[in-house]
Amino acid sequence: MCSYLRVQSAIPAYPWKEPIDWERLATNHGEPFIRFASLVRTKPTNKQNTTFSEFSNLPAELQLYVLRFCDHATLYQLMHTSSLLRQEAKKLFWSARDIWYLVEGIWLLDGGFPGHADHAIEVLPLVEQIEVEFSDFFATSKSLQGDRIAFTVHGDVSGRPETVIEIIRKFWHTLQTRFPKIKTVIISTVQFRDGTSLPADMKSIIRMCPDGITVLGSILADAGDRDNGKRSMLRRLWQRVEDSNGVEHWQVVEAAWTRKSVLLPLKEFHGVAGRFAQYLYHDRFQSYEVYVMDLLCTEAIERHHFEDWYEPFHCLEPGCGHKFDRPGQYTVHVIDIGHQIKWRDWESPLVFKDDFEKYEENLSRRWERIGWQGWLEEMGYPDTEKRRQAEKTFLDQLAHDPLYNEGVPPESTLIYHRWQWHGNPDADL
Ligand SMILES: [Zn+2]
Repeated sequence: MCSYLRVQSAIPAYPWKEPIDWERLATNHGEPFIRFASLVRTKPTNKQNTTFSEFSNLPAELQLYVLRFCDHATLYQLMHTSSLLRQEAKKLFWSARDIWYLVEGIWLLDGGFPGHADHAIEVLPLVEQIEVEFSDFFATSKSLQGDRIAFTVHGDVSGRPETVIEIIRKFWHTLQTRFPKIKTVIISTVQFRDGTSLPADMKSIIRMCPDGITVLGSILADAGDRDNGKRSMLRRLWQRVEDSNGVEHWQVVEAAWTRKSVLLPLKEFHGVAGRFAQYLYHDRFQSYEVYVMDLLCTEAIERHHFEDWYEPFHCLEPGCGHKFDRPGQYTVHVIDIGHQIKWRDWESPLVFKDDFEKYEENLSRRWERIGWQGWLEEMGYPDTEKRRQAEKTFLDQLAHDPLYNEGVPPESTLIYHRWQWHGNPDADL
């Protein structure tokens, strides 16, 4: 299902100070996010090497003071270069209030095991602020009491299914174990119809938040149909408050919340199980790299007309013909009206045509090598000897590799369930 949320701030506005960022990512709803590597990459315009020697001559306390004004990439660099600044840079970097690290909610519900994660586990103890993304988990039957939970949460030793309260208590325990320094948590979800209140299970998770952690709820939901029938979405931020009588209220604290979402650093993938985790990671990323193309294309069309010269243009949507004679108007038109145009459909070749072609070529090359096709060829197709051997090695690693062992039979783990599902596309699992 494709919706038309287009966060205006997600599309860089005129005047453009930097080239198009081809490494950005976006969800299927058009919400942008970035990789950790992009966050900490020093921009070519930061002439740090030429000024660093002068900086290091400053008194120590002045150097520490200056750190407060450094961007994330500079702080990250200082964490690895200067012994004087290392601790302070590290503290400032990981306590940044404008960065929300994305964490998969199902992963935490499942016990937060390292083998199943695609992010590095060793940095988690430093992280203070996360958005726990549940995607559409709370919608319809997919909830803490729904069928899906059977695959995502282990029962106790007797096989008794856990109650919702037990599941949530374990969720918070896992979260605090993995993120001992955590200060703020956003529980985040997507709800296609009614976004006027939080799902019941989400409220329960928020109510049971341990002391010392600030928790908020966030729902991306319909903001009503546009005139042309295309859907528009908004992300709201909610908090739970209690009045003087102890009665709970749910308040919208932001009606249209946007944030800088960042993926945690990627881990190193080892063995057959690691190869599968790597495939799962690329499987998700492939989609994010496709979804972001709408944002990249809107930016490219703006730049094509207004970056190096002035060339007003018209909307190509049949029957529209809206004229854009200033930078930003087309972006607003795309966000408000939804007249998104693909780069290939533009009337004359875009200045960025070669970049888009290269982008798409890279996507398909990686899909063949690391994606599903490459993974199937490496692990063997269903019902072949090669696959049986790969599965045996996979289960063996789940049982014996400390990074993958979850303390339960390998066959009852979520990663094995996913292995079966992804490896047997026609099977009804
Ligand atoms: Zn139009």
